[in-house]
This record gives sequence, structure tokens and C-alpha cells, in this order.
Amino acid sequence: MSYEKRDYGKVTPEIVKRIANVVGDKYVTTSKPILYSYLSKGIMGLESVVADCVVRPKSVEEVQGVLTIASEELIPVTPASGGLSGGFACPTIEPGGILMDLSEMNKIIEVDTDARYIVVEPGVRSGEVWAYMKKKYPGWAPPVPDGAPPAATILGDAIERGFSLVTGRYGPQADTVMGLEVVLATGDVIRTGSWALPGAKPFYKWGLGPDIGGLFLGSQGTMGVITKCAIKIMPHLEHKTVVAYGMDNPYDMQDLTLEISKYEMGMSDHCVMVQGGNWPLVMTRWPKDRVPNDYEAYQKMGISQWWMNFEVWAWTKEELDDTVKRIDDVAKSYEKRTGHQTPQWKLHPKQIASRLLKPNKIAIPYALWDAGFLFITWYTPWKGCGEFSEIYCQKMEEYGFPPVMWVASIDHAREAICMPIVCYDATDKESIKRVKKLNQDTTEIFLEKGWLNYRMDPFCHAPLTLTKAKEYHSLLRKIKRILDPNGILHPGRLALP
Ligand SMILES: Cc1cc2nc3c(=O)[nH]c(=O)nc-3n(C[C@H](O)[C@H](O)[C@H](O)COP(=O)(O)OP(=O)(O)OC[C@H]3O[C@@H](n4cnc5c(N)ncnc54)[C@H](O)[C@@H]3O)c2cc1C
Repeated sequence: MSYEKRDYGKVTPEIVKRIANVVGDKYVTTSKPILYSYLSKGIMGLESVVADCVVRPKSVEEVQGVLTIASEELIPVTPASGGLSGGFACPTIEPGGILMDLSEMNKIIEVDTDARYIVVEPGVRSGEVWAYMKKKYPGWAPPVPDGAPPAATILGDAIERGFSLVTGRYGPQADTVMGLEVVLATGDVIRTGSWALPGAKPFYKWGLGPDIGGLFLGSQGTMGVITKCAIKIMPHLEHKTVVAYGMDNPYDMQDLTLEISKYEMGMSDHCVMVQGGNWPLVMTRWPKDRVPNDYEAYQKMGISQWWMNFEVWAWTKEELDDTVKRIDDVAKSYEKRTGHQTPQWKLHPKQIASRLLKPNKIAIPYALWDAGFLFITWYTPWKGCGEFSEIYCQKMEEYGFPPVMWVASIDHAREAICMPIVCYDATDKESIKRVKKLNQDTTEIFLEKGWLNYRMDPFCHAPLTLTKAKEYHSLLRKIKRILDPNGILHPGRLALP
């Protein structure tokens, strides 16, 4: 049988028994309602299928045991930590095989405030780690995802190379990873970075010669099962605020933000989260028949067509005030020089408090507009985010969706994370078809421009992207074959077998 095309095995009662011998009867199930409940959590997974069984290992040894059985029996295995990445932690092929739910492995193992990292297991949720640090180490913040539900995990977000509450300052979540412990499909356990040396702490992420940690970040569960992650913690400063500026177009949003962000080693180092977007972001957080659907009403409420928020953290009140003043000076000088309007949006203290709340639940209500929503997120150089926003908004309107756009800075606006929120009707096949067409159409345009999808889906982004990068894809396949010789890990994801 070739590696690329294979007939996967089904999970038989005998296999369930063997798995139960490894994890215990209570931790493996084939109950249909439970299997479907995992699918329903993957709210944004247009391509997800139902697993044949769910297994919840409690230790590295149990993960090894389950993977060994799956490798022998050629059963697909999909790892999930919080399962909230929008269907990306669900199987994509039939038979669905084993969904390995790692939520039972939920210990915070170590906090080192000198080397400044925390070691967590996969099941440690953002809400839990945030509360734990607040109580035990109030001077330190874990980089939890900014907008994901508190039930998403910090490790899941790191694997996804997502954006955290300090991404504007520290880069994508993958940049904060100091080391990983991974169980390979073969049952071997490896560690990355300095952690690879037995007895060493995860203090240095590049480790022993060429680093292989990057193979597991962005891998969507196709390369190995991560059982521990050491991730940086940051000073959690007492003095915080949010300042916002309004614009009437995405290009001023882009250019003003870039000017402010280039003050690295100065004011832009205090801007931990820099994120903005357009007025439909406000509108689509409500059922569509209960709110005005045109800009005029929102304009009356003082909402700009576009805006950018700068969340500022500082050690002292003076430092905070100074940063806010400097941001304002740049904004004023930008207005004067360009003649474009970028007024400060005076936020109500309640608005500031709600924006400072972590982990916030700001992104959850988008399902209210219609019956579903999908984040189709892209990376562009910061200088591309204005054009990206313009094209995507036009396309969303062309395909009959509200033009909802959210944009955030990564690492002092070196890059942008651009996230259109496609509010569609998940109960209507026609609406789903339009989402797929919109995705295909925009992907073709954006790849030509050299922009990258944040979390490639298996049917559109991954094939379109990787067929353009043939040598890279071919090498990835070879590496996958070494790490997962029987091709059991999340087959179908990432255009990998
Ligand atoms: C409303 C909403 C808001 C969101 N806001 C944000 C945000 O602000 N920032 C952001 O970055 N993301 C956001 N997301 C996306 C996502 O929720 C986060 O990235 C989240 O942290 C993913 O963590 P998780 O534990 O749910 O991952 P999962 O869904 O469990 O997994 C993510 C991927 O990694 C694989 N995987 C999971 N665990 C393992 C493991 N242990 N070993 C190997 N592979 C594994 C899975 O198969 C999947 O492909 C949002 C999602 C929603 C629904």
C-alpha cells in the first residue's frame, strides 16, 4: 500500500477493549451523543466528520499506548485540547477514527519567574491559567488568546500560532513557545529546545543544533501529540488603558498604526494588543432583525467606520500617561501632514474596562447575526492590511455577507493578522456554498499577492497554497513519513496524507 493512499481501519469493539485496557473503561466511549457533541463544539468546521470513538488519556504513557494501537491497526487519530479551534480538532476523513481528547491532562507543572516561563499540559484552559496566575503570581501574565473562549487552551493556541493578549508586542503565540514535549505516532517521546537535553530546563528555545520544534507548531495535529508546553510569561502591569482612533477608510487605519508601531524600544513596546476593524463588527454581534443594518445608526452612536485600539500597559502612571500622550502626538501629526481625519475616539470607562477584561468573550456573539460564523484569518505584511480589508469587504458584500473585518498588529505591526468574520446561515446549504465560493475566490487572489492563511483548511487553503510551494510540500511529506510512518495522525489535514 502506498503511503499516500490507504484504507484506514474502523474502530471495532475489540479495539475499544484494547484502548480501555490502556486508559480505563471510563475514558473511552463510542456513545453517539458524546461523539456528536465534539462535532458541535467545532462551530466553524465546515469539513468536520464524526469520530468513531473518543479517548481521554491521563498521562504520556497512555497517549503512547493509544498511539501504538492506532498505528498497528491503521486507525486515524485526531488530537484535541480544548477543541475550540473551530472544527480543526475534528476528523476530516471517514472513518473518523479516534478523537484523542487531552483535557484530562490539565496540570500546570511549573512556573519559573526568573527564566519567565510556565509549563502546562494540553488541557489547561485559558480561563484557568489566567485565574491561577492572578492568584499565585499576580505580577505575571500567561499569554492567553485574546478573544477565544476561556475554555480554549493556552497550548492549543500556541500550536495554532494564534494571537494572544500580548501579540502586538511579543509576536504570534508560537514565538512565545520555549519547548515542547511530543509523543510521536511511533510512541517515541521527544522534547524540543534546551529541554531536549535530559535534565535541562526549557530556558532556550533553539536547543540542540537545528530546532525541530517548529514542525509541530501550525501542524494541526498531523506530526505528533504534544503533551507539555513551556511558554513565556510576561510582566502583568498594574497601569493599563486603551486608546482608540477612528478613520473613514482602512488605509488610514493601516498607516497611522504603522507610524505609531515603529516607535519600538519606546512607546510601541507598551502597546501589548493593537487591534481594530470596521463598524459591522458592532452590528453583527446582535440578531440581524433586531438592530439597524446600515451605518447611519452606528454613526449616530459615535462609532467610526474604521478604528484602531491601542491597549497600553506600563509600570507607572507617568509611563502610561507619557505613552498615551506620545500616541496622540503621532496621531495629530499624521492628521496634520496627510489632511486625513483620525480623531481620538473617547472611550467610556466601561468600554475601556470591557476591552481590558481577559480572557474576553468578545468574539462569541457573532453567531447571533445568523446561525453561524467563520473566521477566515490571513497574515499579510502590515502594509497589506488596508488593501486586504478593502478587497475582502467588497467580496463579502458581493457574496451576500455583511463586510465584517477585524485586524490586529503582530510584533509592532511587522505583520497583520486580518480576520474577516463571515456571518452565514449554517442551516442553509446555499449559504454554506456561498461561504466556500468566497473562500476559494479570495484565496486565489491573496496567494497571488503573497499573503498566507493563518490556519489552512484542508480543502481550499492547504491544496491551493501547497501546490504553489511544491518543494516545500514534498519535504513536509517526507518529514511526516519519518514522524508518522503509518500516516495515522489527523489524516487529510494540511493536504498531508
Ligand atoms: C469565538 C472564538 C474566538 C477566538 N478567538 C481567538 C483569539 O483571540 N486568538 C486566537 O489565536 N484564536 C482564537 N480563536 C481560535 C481558537 O479558539 C484558539 O486558537 C484556541 O486557543 C485553540 O485552542 P484549543 O485548545 O481549542 O485547540 P484545539 O481546537 O483543541 O486544537 C487546535 C489544533 O491543534 C491540534 N491539537 C490540539 N491539541 C493538540 C495536541 N495536544 N497535540 C497536537 N495537536 C493538537 C488540533 O487537532 C487542532 O488542529 C477563537 C475561536 C473562537 C471559537
